Amino acid sequence: MQTVRTRIAPSPTGDPHVGTAYIALFNLCFARQHGGQFILRIEDTDQVRSTAASEQQILQALRWAGLEWDEGPDVGGPYGPYRQSERSAIYRQYTQELIERGHAFHCFCSAERLDQLRNEQMMLGQNPGYDGYCLQLSQQEVSERLASAQPHVVRLKVPVDGTCVIDDLLRGRIEIPWSQVDMQVLMKADGLPTYHLANVVDDHLMQITHVLRGEEWISSAPKHQLIYQYLGWNMPMLCHMPLLRNPDKSKLSKRKNPTSILYYQSMGYLPQAMLNYLGRMGWSMPDEREKFTLQEMIDAFDLSRVSLGGPVFDVEKLDWLNALWLREMSPSALMQAFVEWKMHTAYVARVLSQIQPRIQRLSDAADWAAFFFSGQVAVRPDSFLHKRLTETQVRQILQWMLWAAEQIQPWDSAAVERICGAGAQALELKLRDFMAPVFVAVSGKTSSTPVMEAMVILGADLVRARLRHALQVLGGMDAPGMATLQKLWQPHS
Ligand code: GLU
Repeated sequence: MQTVRTRIAPSPTGDPHVGTAYIALFNLCFARQHGGQFILRIEDTDQVRSTAASEQQILQALRWAGLEWDEGPDVGGPYGPYRQSERSAIYRQYTQELIERGHAFHCFCSAERLDQLRNEQMMLGQNPGYDGYCLQLSQQEVSERLASAQPHVVRLKVPVDGTCVIDDLLRGRIEIPWSQVDMQVLMKADGLPTYHLANVVDDHLMQITHVLRGEEWISSAPKHQLIYQYLGWNMPMLCHMPLLRNPDKSKLSKRKNPTSILYYQSMGYLPQAMLNYLGRMGWSMPDEREKFTLQEMIDAFDLSRVSLGGPVFDVEKLDWLNALWLREMSPSALMQAFVEWKMHTAYVARVLSQIQPRIQRLSDAADWAAFFFSGQVAVRPDSFLHKRLTETQVRQILQWMLWAAEQIQPWDSAAVERICGAGAQALELKLRDFMAPVFVAVSGKTSSTPVMEAMVILGADLVRARLRHALQVLGGMDAPGMATLQKLWQPHS
């Protein structure tokens, strides 16, 4: 029998998302339960949005959570490289093969033509999609255009009529009419593959047997199935997991809930509790117990216990479970957890460097350092009163900094300084005045250690959470204020 091989295939384009850990956990459990292997592959075909820093953070965050992979870009393995940007030649070879077999074609359509086509289709209430214009080009015309190096992409040929049938381990038979499937771009004008091509080629070459991924990929499955079929390969078994949701049932989004694993790490959730909680997302133990370890989940794992109702990621529930884990820990395990969290030399040293010039006795340290170790800080609307700033300005400043903390990568001294300077300039304020509300939101006080350094040490995730909290306390931004600020923000984003 074939060895079960599963994978997690994150794109390093942002913060390590709890959804990635959730899908990774299910893939890991499925593989281990069948005595198989779990692989980590980096899908960085989007060269504009992918960053090495994001990749590092994803690896660290998954490892922090306790998820270990057998093969991956950092640990190697027999099917590498495990980073798609290092596999370009492989994708070119299979694109060529698809073209030669008549399953893919060159498309020379300009962005303007495609925009116009999309607008026309929208106006007619049709699904936007490529109209097959370049399918009519003669072989000679294609050769001439290629010889003159005309920019082009390669697209997948898609049947016009009939229905595609996908078998899903959780959902059974899924039918999607071919008319709804676009002639997907496989190779972009820059010679790099799209997700669809690279994903299929790699799953095949890496001998992946089961693909457990989020339900947002269901609509991509027909395209993938075609590529497998055209290349004469077997398709792995597909299993589309229910998406994590906000308590209001909308798709989990960082506007409503922190979604970065780093935030939960920084707030002092235990990795075991985090994994346990993610395991409870749509899955339950045969005996319905709430608290279980990764190993217990692996031992009891059974896909048939996944329920399709969208699992709600509810921080209050996570708090409850985390508290349970904390209470049931041995004193030495608790000590260890504290040290690993923020009581290690590296973090404490950074905090000490900030408070050293300010303390008279060691016993003053706790007061000065408290906000470096807390989650939220207590602020009230009147904490933000300032003689040179209106209430609107205070809110604009906080919102500006929140956007910065959401978008600026990497989050280091230079970036924080730059964005504060830019904010003061855009809002036509002295840097000192601009920083005053930020100071209160971040430290909870009107006098403390230098706030820019504190923001760097605390990390973007906690800073974000504190700025968001401060804005909430102040009643949030109104729509006109938001619109004005948005205009000022644009050039910096
Ligand atoms: N790179 C895709 C992602 O970011 C992987 C999707 C899949 O598992 O096929 O989620």
